[in-house]
Amino acid sequence: MDKLVDLHTHSTASDGTDTPSELIEKAKNIGLSAIALTDHDCFDGLEEASKKAEEVGIELIKGVEFSTEYKHGEVHILGYWLHSNPLENPSFKKVFERLLELRNERNEKLFKKLETLGMPIDKDEVLELTGNSMICRPHLARIMVKKKYVKNINIAFSKYLGMNGVAYVPKQKFTQQEAIDILRDSNAVVSFAHPYLTPCRDEKERKELIKSLADKGIHAIETYYSMNNDKQTTQTLAYTREFNLLPSGGSDYHGTLKPNISLGSGKGRLKIHYSILEDLRKTSI
Ligand code: AMP
Ligand code: MN
Ligand code: MN
Ligand code: MN
Repeated sequence: MDKLVDLHTHSTASDGTDTPSELIEKAKNIGLSAIALTDHDCFDGLEEASKKAEEVGIELIKGVEFSTEYKHGEVHILGYWLHSNPLENPSFKKVFERLLELRNERNEKLFKKLETLGMPIDKDEVLELTGNSMICRPHLARIMVKKKYVKNINIAFSKYLGMNGVAYVPKQKFTQQEAIDILRDSNAVVSFAHPYLTPCRDEKERKELIKSLADKGIHAIETYYSMNNDKQTTQTLAYTREFNLLPSGGSDYHGTLKPNISLGSGKGRLKIHYSILEDLRKTSI
């Protein structure tokens, strides 16, 4: 039987709907050999995931997904095998805490805007949903649906919370170089997440972005991804060869927040072989 892995998943520590323990149990039950937990801008789920992984006997790769600046939106950067907890690095801790502070300020603005629009949201209700961890826009979207302010999460984003929505408040982010340096400083393997979800204007811009990320120090590109079509996968693989990078792969599982994306298999066809993980691991040693 093929040994398969999933190197891109979210738990309730950011905007997933499974707790870290539930996620690990699910991964074990569907027969994955390894899983990376890569919550957005946050390490809160890693300890719980680590304990559970040991208990059920599955390999866990401690990871993270950072949002970084990009001229047309965001570039997402994945880090794997955080050998030392980045929060133990004082200069990183300082930047990271500042980012969290800015996120909280941004959330306060979002709460105010929604209230002005006649959609008040109780912060305690959101914190209950997050288990007192970081508040992200999908949490607000879920409460908006629960309170029947909107029909579904997509409308919450398109009308209100998304970039073109009336309640949009941008979030302060790392620069690409900051995120890559921080991860490399903690001996992580660094991968450019979902290149085809990144808002490049055209393929030329995407290629330029990949070249500049390679120059900045990434090791890999997320080649096998739920939302990719075959052409995009083939093209990404060609970029890994051209820029001497490795392929990585993952589903971007978020639980019921993205119900059409399943753990491990994405939209049904995703298959990430253990050899992908082994090649990435070699880079981290
Ligand atoms: P935040 O970090 O608070 O800006 O929230 C960003 C998260 O919102 C992303 O990681 C996505 O999971 C989620 N998101 C962004 N756009 C949408 C959308 N249109 N529908 C559902 N979730 C979205
Ligand atoms: Mn997300
Ligand atoms: Mn992402
Ligand atoms: Mn993700």
